[in-house]
Amino acid sequence: MSIAVSVIIPVYNEQEVLPKLFERLYPAMDALQRGYEVIFVDDGSRDRSHGLLREQYEKRPDCTRVALLRFNAGQHLAILAGFELARGARVITLDADLQNPPEQIGRVLAAMDAGHDIVGTIRMRRQDSAWRRWGSRLMNKFRHSITSIRITDQGCMLRGYDRSIVDLVNECHEASTFVPALAYGFSRSSTEIEIPHEERAAGTSKYSLYKLIRLNFDLMTGFSMVPLQLVSMTGIIISVLSLLFVVFLIARRILVGPEAEGLFTLFGIVFFLIGVLLLAVGLIGEYVGRVYQQVRSRPRYMVATLWEGSPES
Ligand code: UDP
Ligand code: MG
Repeated sequence: MSIAVSVIIPVYNEQEVLPKLFERLYPAMDALQRGYEVIFVDDGSRDRSHGLLREQYEKRPDCTRVALLRFNAGQHLAILAGFELARGARVITLDADLQNPPEQIGRVLAAMDAGHDIVGTIRMRRQDSAWRRWGSRLMNKFRHSITSIRITDQGCMLRGYDRSIVDLVNECHEASTFVPALAYGFSRSSTEIEIPHEERAAGTSKYSLYKLIRLNFDLMTGFSMVPLQLVSMTGIIISVLSLLFVVFLIARRILVGPEAEGLFTLFGIVFFLIGVLLLAVGLIGEYVGRVYQQVRSRPRYMVATLWEGSPES
């Protein structure tokens, strides 16, 4: 059977959840009766994930491929590594932690059969901590207003991409990126479906607060110049306001006489301006950093080992 679907799963220290994933994923895929391959991209795990992936590969070498990355490149670059390996006419991305039920892959494929080149998903009753839900809602709104990307739930990674989209994504060589947003730019007819969301089946989130903030910076600065423009606009507004303030102070001095206790007002203003300045410098740094990464053009990820075909035990 030719390969109709490539399922790409990034794996980072998921030893607790992998056995459960295998147990549900393969029957769900077999039931679809379409030729498929599952590509596990191990994103530099340091636990027993390698061993578990090897076992699964030996059990199902016909439809399992495993790429071991040399270092932790991050979820989105791991997915891109999978994109380059994928042979299927369609690509499905899925998290390893079973938060997106693999049984829903059939519905994503059905929506693609209807002619959509990208099928996104929206998490119904998202099962994550409250601060993650509110944080995402905020970032979704912000992204909506500063980019032309129309994704309702950017964090949901069960998504389907047609081969035409995958080929275009593979031509991009951004040093860091956000796969759904990148692909969205190439889509002619995307759609979204609602899917149930489950709690992480085992283990803990692989995203620290720091990694989450980094991911959102990649999304914002990678797909929009608006933050940079906002900073210069704010700069202009603040300069105009402080100019008016200075004029006011001069007039006051002439009309009312010198001010005796203006020190704290001054402090207030200066600290505010320093804050704005630091933000501006940091933001410019974000873009310069992206340029720097790109110019260095180091490999974004490195496939150290690839298990595919029949295992030579
Ligand atoms: N992941 C990865 N590299 C990383 C972080 C995460 O490959 O540096 C994988 C992880 O194994 C999982 C998916 O990305 O399959 C989503 O991660 P997680 O479920 O921890 O994120 P959350 O659901 O908390 O946003
Ligand atoms: Mg998760």
